[in-house]
Amino acid sequence: MAGSLLKRFIVMAPKVVFVLGGPGAGKGTQCQKIVETFGYVHLSAGDLLREERAKPGSQYGELIENYIKEGKIVPVEITCSLLENAMKVSGQDRFLIDGFPRNQNNLEGWNKTVANNVELQFVLFFDCPLDICTERCLQRGAAGSGRTDDNLESLKKRFNTYVQETKPIIDHYATMDLVKTIDATKNPLEVFEDVKAIFKAKGAGDS
Ligand code: UDP
Ligand code: MG
Repeated sequence: MAGSLLKRFIVMAPKVVFVLGGPGAGKGTQCQKIVETFGYVHLSAGDLLREERAKPGSQYGELIENYIKEGKIVPVEITCSLLENAMKVSGQDRFLIDGFPRNQNNLEGWNKTVANNVELQFVLFFDCPLDICTERCLQRGAAGSGRTDDNLESLKKRFNTYVQETKPIIDHYATMDLVKTIDATKNPLEVFEDVKAIFKAKGAGDS
């Protein structure tokens, strides 16, 4: 009774899980399964940027396209405002933030504007060697992903950015003991067994 009364007066901070790993590591695929099983809302920073790029008359469309093709990271003000807006309009309180934060600029922008208003539960890191990632992205491109960056030239740049800029962010969260590492080389169902174990250990029930 007292507990439920208290809950009505204390606004709980939304829970956030960052989902990181190289291009093609399986972040999007696994996020979809987490949504189905644990009821989180999936927010892919890359998808939000692609949606923004596609909006007629978007003032950022061209900038976003150039960054994506070059495998570079879009300035955090743009990405963070898309994420914040998506969180708000969802009306939900548990989020998988996929493909963010990807560099120091992303991390600083997030820490300055959003971090204090949410509870970062952990960082889910899909660990996958670059040769397997490359093969998967090229397959995805050949199967008609329609992405302007699923080609060998863009991929080389994306991997470079991942190793130089994103890996240090994962290492940073590891020093805070927030990283859960998953072997992402297995097939999606096997990988999801490991993912499930992590969410269950965190007390996330089936939705
Ligand atoms: N991107 C970005 N900031 C982000 C997320 C993505 O600038 O926070 C851009 C970046 O150019 C990246 C591209 O979007 O290479 C594709 O990202 P996405 O996460 O869709 O690719 P994935 O890693 O899932 O293959
Ligand atoms: Mg993705």
